[in-house]
Amino acid sequence: MKILVSDSMSQKGIQILKNAGFTVDVKTGLPENEIVKIISDYDAQIVRSATKVTKNIIDAATKLKVIGRAGEGVDNIDVSAAKSKGIIVMNTPGGNSHAVVELTIGYLFALARNTFLANKTMKEGKWEKKKFEGNEIKDKVLGVIGLGKIGFEVATLAKALGMKIKAYDPYINKEKATAAGFELVTLDNLLAESDYITIHIPGGEKTKNLINKDSFAKMKNGVRIINCARGGIVNEVDLIEAIKNKKVAGAALDVFSKEPLPTDSELLKLDEVILSPHIGASTHEAQEKVGIMIAEQIKEFLLTGKAINVV
Ligand code: NAD
Repeated sequence: MKILVSDSMSQKGIQILKNAGFTVDVKTGLPENEIVKIISDYDAQIVRSATKVTKNIIDAATKLKVIGRAGEGVDNIDVSAAKSKGIIVMNTPGGNSHAVVELTIGYLFALARNTFLANKTMKEGKWEKKKFEGNEIKDKVLGVIGLGKIGFEVATLAKALGMKIKAYDPYINKEKATAAGFELVTLDNLLAESDYITIHIPGGEKTKNLINKDSFAKMKNGVRIINCARGGIVNEVDLIEAIKNKKVAGAALDVFSKEPLPTDSELLKLDEVILSPHIGASTHEAQEKVGIMIAEQIKEFLLTGKAINVV
């Protein structure tokens, strides 16, 4: 059987598939029309986030049984087109969670000590020692919105660093959160009492603009916000206003309502904001882990029909 790997993938993952006897073709960066021409040769396709698996590709696939996403989000795959042809789509939930957790914890410290700004000003030839008196995160309240795989681990590490954890997640098992020493609260209570707020809920219509003008009005003056979840959950226009009127002392954003972030975005001009281009899952370790996970899952499915982590 033949497998097309359309985005770069860990060598260990590729080796797992080859060792199982599959023919693996790694052809990255192909445009849609090129994939359409060759896809009928393949039993499985593996992608990360770059390749868009469109309806055109799916329509042209005559042997394809499974599409594997090395990662979690499947926004780049036309899942309903795949489903209607009986093609399984699978992903690797949790495979990159720890990478996002570490980025979030890094942003907590960066916001507390303004290291990103100190670095920038020193490179501009300045020595602004007084300006950079920071804060300590110990004994501060961290509000965690969403206590899933990432949120729970962020909360656990932040608690170990001496922070008090208030969490809002209407769907979480209360005993588990309480046993971990987190206080489950309403969203309003979290907004009102947190020194730092970090967001770890799914994106999409249901959570769009969850953090908006009204939410900022309920927060403490000088609050700091981290969003390494999905763009759109924090209303960017309202955030910019809240930073300008000093309600929000700092924000770290890895995700944006429009990606890539437009070059005229005002977020780029605010010193209080740390930005990264959606790199939450981009660590060597996470990419290796999701590559191995998807390879094992595809191997299992093609050899035994057992489908794991079906979307
Ligand atoms: P998860 O599904 O394990 O956890 C999400 C949690 O949010 C669940 O416990 C759920 O009950 C809770 N939730 C859902 N809606 C809610 C709401 N309205 N209010 C409060 N809680 C709510 O997801 P995860 O793996 O922890 O991922 C969290 C987020 O991080 C997702 O948006 C995911 O797409 C994102 N993510 C980002 C990157 C990146 O590169 N920055 C990488 C991986 C994941």
